[in-house]
Amino acid sequence: MRLTNYFLPLLKEAPKDADIISHQLMLRAGMIKQSSSGIYTWLPMGLAVLKKIEKIIRDEQTKAGALEMLMPTIQTADIWKKSGRYEDYGKEMLRIVDRHDREMLYGPTNEEHITDLVSTFIKSYKNIPKIFFHIQWKFRDEIRPRFGVMRCREFLMKDAYSFDLSEDSGKHSYNKMFVSYLRIFKKMELNAIPMKAESGPIGGNMSHEFIILAETGESKVFIDKKLLELEAPDDDINYNDDLTEIVKTWTTPFAVTEDMYNKDKFYNNVLLEDRIEEKGIEVGHVFFFGDKYNKPMGASIQNKDGKVIPLQSGSYGIGVSRLVAAIIEAHHDDKGIVWPKSVSPFDISLINLKPSNEDVNKICDEIYESLEKKRYQIIYDDTDSSIGEKFSRMDLIGIPIQIIVGPNSIKEGKVEIKDRKTDARKLVNLSEILNEFQLKD
Ligand code: ATP
Ligand code: MG
Repeated sequence: MRLTNYFLPLLKEAPKDADIISHQLMLRAGMIKQSSSGIYTWLPMGLAVLKKIEKIIRDEQTKAGALEMLMPTIQTADIWKKSGRYEDYGKEMLRIVDRHDREMLYGPTNEEHITDLVSTFIKSYKNIPKIFFHIQWKFRDEIRPRFGVMRCREFLMKDAYSFDLSEDSGKHSYNKMFVSYLRIFKKMELNAIPMKAESGPIGGNMSHEFIILAETGESKVFIDKKLLELEAPDDDINYNDDLTEIVKTWTTPFAVTEDMYNKDKFYNNVLLEDRIEEKGIEVGHVFFFGDKYNKPMGASIQNKDGKVIPLQSGSYGIGVSRLVAAIIEAHHDDKGIVWPKSVSPFDISLINLKPSNEDVNKICDEIYESLEKKRYQIIYDDTDSSIGEKFSRMDLIGIPIQIIVGPNSIKEGKVEIKDRKTDARKLVNLSEILNEFQLKD
């Protein structure tokens, strides 16, 4: 993408009401524009990151055996009345009346919708277990939208729902999602720690929030340092295996949020030097709730003995749009964003220091075209801005690799490659520049 053809409305300074770094940087880097309170337009570069995050989640959830579908944003109130949550949900739910005076709502979550669907289609134990997921916009009329896309009203969520015949089998589905989450967040270079959250009606350890540590987080967290050293399962994970041990490894060290905190327990269980008290950002939540919705909504099936029993379910959310901000909170420096490779809006940035120079132009064009052929996504600064402006712009938008081409270096037959994160620079022979980048898969 040539910068002269792109749309990157940068701001020199972040508006005063943006009080956390990710919000400031998202606005300064031209990723989002507020439309009204807690509602945002995603500009091209913001959307590119959102799509990268979506893809990681989609691929990993699919690997874990979940099936993607797409449920609507607008739901009928009827199904919520059936589950009993229509009144309970309160003012966070945006309620709408259509032209026929039917009560509708903009979905804040989809348990009712999916349960209604499953009760229609799944009648036999042979169709079970199943995990469905979708990536869809939600609306919650938050009392105090703030921190940009971190806590907004319209946001993108990945939500998955599992349906099993027994509690044991349900636990396996829960573990699958748990392990999938470990892998998803690791791919985004986030240290997301599962923390015991309020347990559902069944009790036990069946609810965990995945939280990344950040000073700007909204909830206080108390964890054992050992958790920061654990490694998420790698690619040869088999989701049909018993995953209990992996989940146990991650849930045994102490880790709780404020709501579940007990000072004595923390002090008795964790050595002084291993105690971490910080703030955190919730990026995901896994929750097992048994037959809570299945019972009232009639999602029941006949088991092998001919007995009709309600299904056992859990729901599993990830804040897709919140993750964009959370990743920036974890990956930035004083010059701007430093994207992890896996979610960067472009793979490489190419900086033409002197577009008025024919030779520089020719070399930049060649590099640009050749690397695109190797399937890299490139943002090519072909503008006539000043050199200082070019450098600070690229540092601000945080593409991991910068290729810098100017008249002086090409005279010596070289171009410069800079690593945005470490600031390491190397001069590479023009004839070898393409060898630096393998064909991308
Ligand atoms: P929170 O405690 O932050 O309000 P929640 O417990 O209400 O979140 P869930 O219903 O578990 O959230 O939703 C799943 C995920 O969606 C959360 O883990 C979070 O990452 C994201 N999310 C929830 N509310 C918002 C919001 N207002 N803006 C952006 N993302 C959100
Ligand atoms: Mg939650």
